[in-house]
Amino acid sequence: MAPLSTDLLVIGGGATGAGVAFDAALRGFDVVLVDRADLAEGTSGRFHGLLHSGGRYVVKDPNAAIECIGENRIVREIAADAIEDTGGFFVSTPWDDPAYADRFAQGCADTGVDCEEIPVAQALREEPRLNPDISRAFRVPDANVDAWKLVWGLARGAQERGGRILTYHEVVGVHREGDEVTGARVRDARTGDELDVEAAMTVNAAGAWAHHIAEMAGIEGVRILPGRGIMIAMNHRLVNTVVNRCQSPTDGDILVPIRTVSVIGTTDVHTDDPDDHTVLQDEVDAMLDDGEKLVPGFKRARALRVWTGVRPLFEDAKEEGTDTRDVTRAHAILDHVERDGVKRFLTITGGKLTTYRLMAKDAVDAVCAQRGETRPCTTSTAVLPGSADRGPYLLGERLERKEEHLRDDQLVCECEMIARSKLEEVMRRRATTNLDDIRRSLRLGMGPCQGGFCIPRATGILHAMNGMSHEEANASLLGFLRERWKGVWPILYGDQVRQARLDDWIFQGVLDVEHLPG
Ligand SMILES: Cc1cc2nc3c(=O)[nH]c(=O)nc-3n(C[C@H](O)[C@H](O)[C@H](O)COP(=O)(O)OP(=O)(O)OC[C@H]3O[C@@H](n4cnc5c(N)ncnc54)[C@H](O)[C@@H]3O)c2cc1C
Repeated sequence: MAPLSTDLLVIGGGATGAGVAFDAALRGFDVVLVDRADLAEGTSGRFHGLLHSGGRYVVKDPNAAIECIGENRIVREIAADAIEDTGGFFVSTPWDDPAYADRFAQGCADTGVDCEEIPVAQALREEPRLNPDISRAFRVPDANVDAWKLVWGLARGAQERGGRILTYHEVVGVHREGDEVTGARVRDARTGDELDVEAAMTVNAAGAWAHHIAEMAGIEGVRILPGRGIMIAMNHRLVNTVVNRCQSPTDGDILVPIRTVSVIGTTDVHTDDPDDHTVLQDEVDAMLDDGEKLVPGFKRARALRVWTGVRPLFEDAKEEGTDTRDVTRAHAILDHVERDGVKRFLTITGGKLTTYRLMAKDAVDAVCAQRGETRPCTTSTAVLPGSADRGPYLLGERLERKEEHLRDDQLVCECEMIARSKLEEVMRRRATTNLDDIRRSLRLGMGPCQGGFCIPRATGILHAMNGMSHEEANASLLGFLRERWKGVWPILYGDQVRQARLDDWIFQGVLDVEHLPG
């Protein structure tokens, strides 16, 4: 196949890579972005969902806090469609060091994180399920962020300026000529075809996998400490505000309301393999106990699903066995000219989803510097496609829209309020038969039924629309079910067993999925 030629090859389609592609396209670069899977299928789509105010870091990592609050203010403006402005509380529970609250308030003042102490009674009025024994409460500008909307908004912004986005294209080799990186070889995961991308500059934004890419470029010693964390989605919005425990960051201390569910997280365990998604029963039990500390009765809600993500924590100088919680959440740009004598190649890693824009800006500034050019960054004011002329997402807005035209359109997913016309529009736009890709675009099957009711319908619609064979439709359905099951079986207890049994009957009893030809 003829090689692609570009100014800038970006490896990795998470928030960082998509941010780099958008930033560079705005500065007039021709861009190709490749990801081994769908966009945001790495850590960006497996995170906790929090647009940090910075409060979490004010005591332990003030620089990270300063970056977070600065970016929080910008991202709300440029990516409103991806944000729900829930606000956030930091609350002192009986398990937290009471002295931490004053250090927290001082840290917020020192780092510029907006913070107001409010009476406990006020916090409990706003969040009646909160533990009534909390002793202090602070309000901060936390929010939730839909990573898929954000990352696809960035990708579409790059595409509108000529950028090419190649999903399911894995980098299998990085090309070097002497001391210069000249591009990469990518393999299409769906067809097996290989393609060379020739690039004037290559940015490695492969997150927790960045060291593999650096090794392919012949660069040793890029040390990523992958930190694995679990999160559990509960079947209700137990709170409407992000609730953090007011203590030094630890496990299970944040509860984030996201659309119809709330998500408790997280842990931080060193792993050698960024593709390690092991969930330990002890971690699940401890996480549910932590939920009880914030919201008594937490465990009586139904745990829908558990998943893990792997933090790309970078630290050059740390010794083996570092506790990943002690590694800074700040980001790092590795300019491989300075570091390794290798030109036309940069690695951007570390950081948080909240700070993706700043990371991208620093990376593209470094690209310009290597090329000896000055091209100013404009992403602090460039509104993403989908976010122009609109405010943040409001809970219930899908229902409100639906109720205006109640009888006009079939409802395919009751949990996430997805109408048939919207589903068909996204199926056409994504041009994929992979129902998991559709899930990420619309949150299809992510609510309390976990696909039990909507996925048979969605498969039928996909089948009819695309003129697929029944074997292909069956394969799409089975692929989706296998993927969902991975997150359901580790938390099968109580009411979730009943729901899983019901779903099983729908799939086995009605469709006999185990014997579908496919
Ligand atoms: C448990 C957990 C909870 C978190 N919660 C929050 C939070 O609430 N708020 C927040 O701001 N941050 C949070 N973070 C941090 C945040 O999620 C990450 O810092 C951020 O998503 C990293 O984005 P990225 O684009 O750098 O990496 P990724 O999103 O992982 O993107 C890297 C991409 O590279 C691709 N790739 C890998 N190898 C190859 C290859 N050979 N060829 C092509 N592509 C390749 C991968 O498929 C992947 O899509 C959390 C992290 C974890 C682990």
